[in-house]
Amino acid sequence: MRGCAIAFDIDHTLAIDNKLERIAFLRLLEAVDAEGGAPLGTLDQETTAIDVLLERQRSGAFSIDEAVRRFVVERGVAQAQPFVLRFREIALSLVDEIIVPLPGVSRMLAELREQDVATAALSNGWSPLQQRKAERSGFAGPVLASSDIGAAKPDPRAFTALVETLGLPADRIWYVGDNPHSDVVGAKAAGLRAAWYNAEGRAYPKDLVPPDAQITNICDVIGLIASPVVR
Ligand SMILES: [Mg+2]
Repeated sequence: MRGCAIAFDIDHTLAIDNKLERIAFLRLLEAVDAEGGAPLGTLDQETTAIDVLLERQRSGAFSIDEAVRRFVVERGVAQAQPFVLRFREIALSLVDEIIVPLPGVSRMLAELREQDVATAALSNGWSPLQQRKAERSGFAGPVLASSDIGAAKPDPRAFTALVETLGLPADRIWYVGDNPHSDVVGAKAAGLRAAWYNAEGRAYPKDLVPPDAQITNICDVIGLIASPVVR
């Protein structure tokens, strides 16, 4: 049906990223070591520290480049900039090997193309990594990354950028994502229709705005196209 669009979260909705950025930071640690820096602790402690850093970056506290600068400076490296570039190279080089598209995604996207449904992706992360992840998943539409928008999900400004990209009224756009807080609550706050992708059979948090639809199989996205639009 024309006049409706489907937008997607990327991580754990279209693909599993298998902690790609954590691995990129651990690889960067080797380079830090080689340049005279020093790890802060054991591998377990480094992994925990990296996850905390990435969590803050994904929530919009700072950019991925700033995360890399903080990481290397904390480990005794004075010249951070070469590591910023090196981190991006490492992360992008890992995409083909590490990103795994979820089963059914390719078929679902082909069906949407067949039906001429407009699509876009909105992800908390940085370009071009999110772009490459989307491509690896077989996704061919526009990809918006929070670092480019200047706002991260669930901030409604991130979804407003998505609406502008798709050029349709917000209530004619479905947003499909696995995270109740950032995907469902964020999309609803911006006036989109939200479909919660619940592949693991979890209970939806009682204290959050409920989704308009819940799907357990990504191929069920096709059924959303025929859903009546509520105005
Ligand atoms: Mg996700």
